[in-house]
Amino acid sequence: MACFLFYDENFKTLDFGPGHPMRGDRYEKALEEFKKDGILEKVEMRKVEMIDEDILCLFHTSTYVEKVKKISEEGQGIIGPDTPGYKGIYEAALLSVSATIFGVKSLLKNECEVAINICGGWHHAFENTGRGFCIFNDIAVAGNFLLKEGVEKIMIIDYDAHHGDGTQRAFYSSKKVFTISLHQNPETLYPFLTGVKEEIGEGEGKGFNRNFPLSFNCKDEEFIENFKEVEEVINNFKPEFLILQMGVDGSKECFISNMKLTGESYNYASYKIRESQKKIGFELLSLGGGGFVHPMLGKNWGIQINNFTN
Ligand SMILES: [Zn+2]
Repeated sequence: MACFLFYDENFKTLDFGPGHPMRGDRYEKALEEFKKDGILEKVEMRKVEMIDEDILCLFHTSTYVEKVKKISEEGQGIIGPDTPGYKGIYEAALLSVSATIFGVKSLLKNECEVAINICGGWHHAFENTGRGFCIFNDIAVAGNFLLKEGVEKIMIIDYDAHHGDGTQRAFYSSKKVFTISLHQNPETLYPFLTGVKEEIGEGEGKGFNRNFPLSFNCKDEEFIENFKEVEEVINNFKPEFLILQMGVDGSKECFISNMKLTGESYNYASYKIRESQKKIGFELLSLGGGGFVHPMLGKNWGIQINNFTN
């Protein structure tokens, strides 16, 4: 069955401007690499339409949504730390959540086996504020959308270099949504305060959150060793729906973390997820996450997407 790649050329409007690591051309540049590596022949490209903005409030407060809208109209203001506002930022952020929700809907309708939104995975945003380049947390919105649709066992795996703190917080007391994050030791990297092993969830959700802090200079061997434990967790939990944040900013080429991963780590993890999918039969939604240098970004996303098409 098909692997859908949701894409809209207006993804480029999600751009914090010169001097900021998050620039709008990263999607186009990644697509060029996909083309060179034959990935585009293996996926079905799908257009994105804007979702009803009420869907944002499945996770975000209406006060925060209104704040982003106002900053977007006025063209000035701060959305949150490291997350400046600009004219049109609301539409840009809504488009990115739309691509994620379109992915979810296609999977629920069994139109595809894997859905991908490279302009997604905004794991730092909280319900009431933007943080760390993230405006709306499309992962948390998608999780709540799935719960509303009656999906009972959701797993979120995040191997971006940074701890998926906004996502952890969103589902910390839920046993229906199992959150897992592998990331550079948060004593040495943003978001600094969370992402330690001892955070395992609370109340009903106790035991349904796992953190795998990795060394400052983490190499493939350590990442793969830790991911083997994740494989066991997937096979024991047997999710109905798996959301992956496939951020590649732990790559040795990327200046934003100190990790030293290569395509070997991303190949291993994505291959194992796809293998579990074939065994367990869950729906798979994969979201871009971090990665800020080229051509590394397109290469390491491409390695993963290629595995999802096999
Ligand atoms: Zn990151």
